[in-house]
Amino acid sequence: MLVILFTETGLLPLRYRRLELALSYAKYAATCPDSHYAKCAWMHSCNLLRKGHSSQVGDLIHVLSRLPVPVESSVEDFLSSARLDNLIVAVRDSWITSATDAIQGSIRCTLLKARVEFDKHGRPSPAAVFASRSYLKIITVPNHRRAYLRFITSNHMLAVEVLRYTDRRYQPYVPRDWRKCRLGCDEVEDEVHALLCCVGDRDLVGLRNNFLFKVLPLLPDASVWHNRHTDLAFLIRLIFDERLLKDVAKFIYNVESCTALRFLLSPDPICEYLGFDRGDVRLNPPRVDI
Ligand SMILES: [Zn+2]
Repeated sequence: MLVILFTETGLLPLRYRRLELALSYAKYAATCPDSHYAKCAWMHSCNLLRKGHSSQVGDLIHVLSRLPVPVESSVEDFLSSARLDNLIVAVRDSWITSATDAIQGSIRCTLLKARVEFDKHGRPSPAAVFASRSYLKIITVPNHRRAYLRFITSNHMLAVEVLRYTDRRYQPYVPRDWRKCRLGCDEVEDEVHALLCCVGDRDLVGLRNNFLFKVLPLLPDASVWHNRHTDLAFLIRLIFDERLLKDVAKFIYNVESCTALRFLLSPDPICEYLGFDRGDVRLNPPRVDI
C-alpha cells in the first residue's frame, strides 16, 4: 500500500501538495490591492469562469472535485482569504480521510488500524493518521528499524502474510486458518503468535523471556494489559510505546531472524493441488521491502 509511505513519513502526496501550493498562491493573489497585476489577473480568471470559459480557477475547481474525497467549491471561494483558508483545510482533511479509509479498509494493516501511541512519559494518545513517526528517529539501527517497519505495516515474512499472495508465486489461495506456524504449533503464524505466543523454538522462547524481563518493569500497567485484554491489545501496548521502541525493534528483528531459518510448509490441500508430498513443497519467497 503506497499510502502507508506517506502516513508514516508525514510527506504529503504530490497531488495534494501541489493543490495546497496553488491555493496558497490564490490566497496571495486574492488579497493583493486591486491595482496589483496579480489581483487583476486573478479577477480576470474568475470572470472568465463566470462567462463559461476555461481558466485557472476553473481548473482548480475541477481538480478539487476529482479528489478521492471530493472538495466542493465555487468561484466565490477563490475571492475571499477566509474561504481560501477553509479550502486549504478541506484539502488536508480530504487527504486524511482518504488515507484513513485506505488503512481501515485494508485486510492487512491489523496493527495500524488499532494504533494507540504512548509518549516517553507513558501517556496514551490516539495516533495521528498522518505524521512523521517518532520511531524513524528513535530506532537508530537500520536493520532493526526496517524489521519494525515491515512488522507494523504487515510487510513481514510471517505465514499469515506470505501465504496470502496468489499472484507472485502461482499458488492457490490459502485460507487464513491454514497459514500455520512453521515451528510446529497448531496456530496461525501471525504477528501476535510470533511475538507473544509461539513455543515452537527454544531460542525464540528465550528471546521473548529476555525481552519481557527487560520491558515489563517499564510498564506499571503491564499486568492489567496482559491479563485483562486480548493478546493483540497487549502487543499494541508494547510496540507503540516510545520508551520501548528500541527494544521492541531489536526483538522483532531477532524473531524475524529466528523464523527466517525455517521454511514455510505448504498446507496439505495445496500439496495435493500441486501433486507433491507435503515434505517436498517448501515455500521460501524472496523478501520484499516497501
Ligand atoms: Zn508457533
